[in-house]
Amino acid sequence: MSITKQKLVTGGAGFIGSHLIDRLLADGHDVLCVDNFYTGTKPNIYHVLDNVHFELMRHDVTFPLYVQVDQIYNLACPASPVHYQHDPIQTTKTSVHGAINMLGLAKRLNCRIFQASTSEVYGDPQVHPQSESYWGNVNPIGARSCYDEGKRCAETLFFDYNRQTGLDIKVARIFNTYGPRMHPNDGRVVSNFIVQALMGEPITLFGDGTQTRSFCYVSDLVEAIMRFMATDAGCIGPLNLGNPSEITIRELAETIVEMTGSRSKISYHPLPQDDPVQRRPDISAARQTLNWEPTVSLQEGLTSTIKYFDGLLSGNEPARSR
Ligand code: NAD
Ligand code: UDP
Ligand code: UDP
Repeated sequence: MSITKQKLVTGGAGFIGSHLIDRLLADGHDVLCVDNFYTGTKPNIYHVLDNVHFELMRHDVTFPLYVQVDQIYNLACPASPVHYQHDPIQTTKTSVHGAINMLGLAKRLNCRIFQASTSEVYGDPQVHPQSESYWGNVNPIGARSCYDEGKRCAETLFFDYNRQTGLDIKVARIFNTYGPRMHPNDGRVVSNFIVQALMGEPITLFGDGTQTRSFCYVSDLVEAIMRFMATDAGCIGPLNLGNPSEITIRELAETIVEMTGSRSKISYHPLPQDDPVQRRPDISAARQTLNWEPTVSLQEGLTSTIKYFDGLLSGNEPARSR
């Protein structure tokens, strides 16, 4: 085991990574954030830049990384369909080469490593809700494949490093998560709808809006990640992490319009290729192994997220504090 007590968070300047860093720092840990700022931003981490327990390193995880840490949280990867399809080859490289490098690092340091996998490994699922035993329905050559197959290959690598070298791994399959610090141009549905509603612009509904998703507030997810990382070495996953309350995308649009008091009207657009029809996690395994379940309702979570975007659109940049 490494004697250095520092947690490495790759993708730490992103949405989930920055919240995870806040939690690690609050719990008294030292944090090394590694990010190439592909989709992450400095404002997400402004408030910790001057914290002596925080260190920032601009680095692309597709290249080898030699540092001393005692735990790794591997979150580096664009997560929004618009972003991960912008440069699909780089997306696959980030998942696959990034996993190989972070696993090589973990192996050298003999330290625990967490992988942010995704519900996308289930593709357009034919089993509902999705439990960890389902192998999924993924198109290997479509527009979403760079993300889905990249993450699937990363899972394979994690489990092979575990079997072949005994590496201490934790693989979580994260379902749609939302909250403050999503990028306003992120392209994902919650941020798109909130920004459009606040600006009085048309709400861009893809398809007829009957497709479903299940949205988890970011603090619930971070709590689950922390609990997972504290389990004993036998608990390797994969573990579904998400909120099982399912909603259609049309209902989400209507809820956000109502909560923001917006006069925006819905505008209809074609459904993107391979867009999953329905998605809801079966979280029985996480409930049992982590004694965890989400506590933040969609109403509460949207309230804080709307407040965040409202502030951002009014010109309130997150402040750098001392
Ligand atoms: P995000 O885009 O906000 O954050 C990703 C971060 O990774 C960014 O800071 C980006 O700059 C960084 N990054 C991308 N490529 C990199 C590279 N090659 N080297 C170094 N850094 C790189 O997305 P997010 O929502 O915070 O997602 C974080 C992780 O969680 C991702 O791995 C994503 O696949 C996974 N995930 C997220 C969700 C969700 O709903 N938010 C769902 C499932 C899985
Ligand atoms: N690696 C890294 N940091 C380390 C150790 C390894 O980035 O501290 C990278 C290294 O470049 C290698 C990869 O991780 O390509 C996989 O390492 P591993 O030891 O498993 O395989 P090998 O070096 O034998 O290819
Ligand atoms: N979506 C939409 N309008 C948007 C963005 C997304 O109707 O402006 C839909 C999208 O087609 C999908 C759902 O909302 O059915 C969730 O999309 P998102 O990109 O947030 O996540 P993912 O598809 O990866 O679950």
